[in-house]
Amino acid sequence: MPELRKPLAADGLPSLIGTDRAGLEAALAEIGEPEAKRPMRARQLFHWIYCRGAASFEQMTTLSKETRARLAERFSVARPEIVVEQQSTDGTRKWLLRFFDGQEVECVFIPQDDRGALCVSTQVGCTLTCKFCHTGTMPLVRNLTPGEILSQLLVARDALGEWPSPRDDRLFTNIVVMGMGEPLFNYDGIAAAMKLASDGDGIGLSKHKITLSTSGVVPRIVQWGEELGTGLAISLHAVRDELRDELVPVNRKWKIAQLLDACRAYPHRNKPITFEYVMLAGVNDSDADARELVRLLEGIPAKVNLIPFNAWPGAEFTCSSNNRIHAFARIVEAAGYQSPVRVPRGRDILAACGQLKTASERIRARREAAAAPPAAAPTPAPAAALH
Ligand code: SAH
Ligand code: SF4
Repeated sequence: MPELRKPLAADGLPSLIGTDRAGLEAALAEIGEPEAKRPMRARQLFHWIYCRGAASFEQMTTLSKETRARLAERFSVARPEIVVEQQSTDGTRKWLLRFFDGQEVECVFIPQDDRGALCVSTQVGCTLTCKFCHTGTMPLVRNLTPGEILSQLLVARDALGEWPSPRDDRLFTNIVVMGMGEPLFNYDGIAAAMKLASDGDGIGLSKHKITLSTSGVVPRIVQWGEELGTGLAISLHAVRDELRDELVPVNRKWKIAQLLDACRAYPHRNKPITFEYVMLAGVNDSDADARELVRLLEGIPAKVNLIPFNAWPGAEFTCSSNNRIHAFARIVEAAGYQSPVRVPRGRDILAACGQLKTASERIRARREAAAAPPAAAPTPAPAAALH
């Protein structure tokens, strides 16, 4: 895997976003802050960055003017560039963010009645190539740094006007690590970011409000359970190894039985594991598949999320019919598992991860070809469901 890069902000300075207290103390040492004062100054910086959401050192009024100036010379707390920001008629909001090296990722905020989840990305593209997933077709892959992951949270808090945090009445209550990339192939990056996100002195989202989705990197599931123990979602999608080997290639390395053993051993903390199952017509959606799924899940506190396949240009699958999806759900429910069918969100703004990025690339290519002045927003593209 690529190394975590030195996190530079868009202005070219090393970013302090994503840095823990020890790292902040080291930054203070670099600007010549006396050793005895560093722990307290680091606490103040931590508070300004993660609790108050300061986007410049100038705002950090509990630090002396001189300290602020020295910090600003050497470091940054600037956000990544927001390339596109969109809001759906259903309240879903989506941002396309560009980092210092020009790479872009998306994050999506999905409000619901009593909660709101931010779907964060962990990699540019994905090293895996699940057959039904658009992200898997993107050629460029690199890990996001902890700061780049965390900055997605800060951008959402900025836009929702939810500083300082924590607050009781906020819209943004949950994190789902379900955006672009396989989070457990960027273990260090996502672990550092989620430790900071759940720190009570900062962003303060407790670990049971965080759900990590993985395609099945078994050894890392075990490690994640021990070290973070957040909510867990497994992208299962098939109940037989021959088919899962094809659909979710990581299965060639870690088989379904090993994956489910890791789930059985995962600390549940009263929260069921979510099994995600994308409904592909004629591929994985038969009654026999549903019955086999029930058999496999035995002994695991589980919930099954049925996801209507979100088609993209060039995809070789189609989505199962509504009738088929509901017949499948009935079998799973009859065995005592909740089996909600995921409702597409943000259709009008292409809220499925990967789609906005592709739209933006298409526009750029067209723009370069025509040498035309920049367009303000992406052109409408086919309807999409949040994956
Ligand atoms: N890499 C991680 C997390 C990101 S993908 C993982 O695979 O779990 C988030 C979810 O969206 C996964 O369950 C993934 O399988 C699913 N998904 C990907 N492409 C999809 C599509 N075109 N339609 C519906 N679901 C999709
Ligand atoms: Fe990567 Fe997840 Fe897409 Fe598979 S489904 S290619 S693991 S992002």
